[in-house]
Amino acid sequence: MGDVQALLQSVFGFPGFRGVQGQVIDRVMAGRHTLAVMPTGAGKSLCYQLPAVARDGLCVVISPLIALMHDQLRSALAVGIRAATLTSADDNRRETIDRLRAGALDLLYVAPERAATPQFRELIAEARINLFAIDEAHCVSEWGHDFRPDYRLLRPLLDSFPHVPRLALTATADAHTRADILVQLGLPEDGMIIAGFDRPNIRYAISPRDGAARQIADLVRQTPGAGIVYAPSRAGTEKLAAQLAATGRPVRVYHAGLSPELRQANQAAFVASEDMVMVATIAFGMGIDKPDVRFVAHAALPRSIEAYYQETGRAGRDGAPAAAHLFWGAEDFVRARQRLDEVEPDRRASEQARLAALSGLVETGDCRRMVLLRHFGEQPAGPCGNCDNCLTPPARVDATELARKLLSAVFRTGQTYGAGYVEEILLGRSTARSQMNGHDSLSVFGIVDAADAPLIRPLTRALMLREALVTTEHGGLMLGAQARPILKGEQPVEIALPPRRTRKRGGAAVP
Ligand code: ADP
Ligand code: ZN
Repeated sequence: MGDVQALLQSVFGFPGFRGVQGQVIDRVMAGRHTLAVMPTGAGKSLCYQLPAVARDGLCVVISPLIALMHDQLRSALAVGIRAATLTSADDNRRETIDRLRAGALDLLYVAPERAATPQFRELIAEARINLFAIDEAHCVSEWGHDFRPDYRLLRPLLDSFPHVPRLALTATADAHTRADILVQLGLPEDGMIIAGFDRPNIRYAISPRDGAARQIADLVRQTPGAGIVYAPSRAGTEKLAAQLAATGRPVRVYHAGLSPELRQANQAAFVASEDMVMVATIAFGMGIDKPDVRFVAHAALPRSIEAYYQETGRAGRDGAPAAAHLFWGAEDFVRARQRLDEVEPDRRASEQARLAALSGLVETGDCRRMVLLRHFGEQPAGPCGNCDNCLTPPARVDATELARKLLSAVFRTGQTYGAGYVEEILLGRSTARSQMNGHDSLSVFGIVDAADAPLIRPLTRALMLREALVTTEHGGLMLGAQARPILKGEQPVEIALPPRRTRKRGGAAVP
């Protein structure tokens, strides 16, 4: 119908393509099946919206969430695309179907469960379909972090229109998931286009939690502009929001417990604001078009590297400097491992790998961006110079001996006590409890020099991260699967310490 370049300007008002958009659109226009892996903010919607306008007929977009569909519908309508959603939340479904039959629609958003019905198949058989766009395509894979069984039902629909090109889109897919998406959706291996994942303007930082409210308040004070703080629970967002009010910035909350009206109002206020702090659960952010978010903070561990990347990716879409700061606690990993026990056996291995990747990112003393990009299959050229570890390299301390002492103290005291008690034993601090337990006479009592005291807590965290230590159901410490090789001296333990801590200590830090 129209020249792609001309439409890009006349319909969307963009001077040119960004990144791989042109490449993806070329393939789609040529009628070839494609998987586009593009980071959040890279402009995935254009990749189907433009062909939808440029080619005769209807583009069907499969999308997992009604809220997401309605956001995208708004942006499509805003540039004058003849678009509609067909969901249980729409009371104009009759009208939409009439428009579809009359050929008066370019774009139709629909959820996978509806798309998979025979009724829907019959309906669109009457229209001329020019493209199937499968948004959030990682949902089709069990390897993906958001598996949606409904996505598996799409294949028969797609196969019954063999000449209609398929465009699968996702922001977050590791190599496994990508390969699986190709198989599940019947796409050719050479049909994958992967955009660079790097977001060079985002400065990544990851720190242990030590008074999260204060740490995040400090970040807010240091970072002008709007920001998002992710907290793990509804109650957590409310509490944190109250605490952040002291920064003097406007603060709002967003979580699934609020009324739709209030959520909508808070979201609109955030989008319009230049300095608001939004404290939210992960429900917030999908489909929000706010390019000038200056920081994203996590008050707890995200679910996966993919989730972390997607959530932090909401910062700095305008290309100006932005910060992403994650605050984690060892208990986050404990909880994540407990959740692991609850997943179905056939998914456990992939969930385990996901958690291991995440702890690798948290634990590393090397460039965070390199860890992130490698996770997404890229080969970064070198350290980025724009993450916490690049900017203030942590001192690496060989803590192998200390780790053996700590693990034996846990073992000798019966694998029931918490970190505080074990620390007292190691440092030889006699208490009523240690006397009563007869632990004052253990060989590990007082075995650690006072100068090493500041290392005990970070080391405990590091050992928990590695599963050399795990927690009992009562919160005590016990030896984990990885304890043995350390105790036997087969496995060295090195920990990366934030610079402030090590300066106090001097000596043993390895440069
Ligand atoms: P994604 O779905 O990949 O996260 P979107 O499709 O929501 O990204 O696009 C992100 C932002 O980039 C939107 O504000 C969009 O208008 C803008 N955008 C997309 N393509 C271009 C382009 N070629 N030039 C300029 N801005 C673009
Ligand atoms: Zn770096």
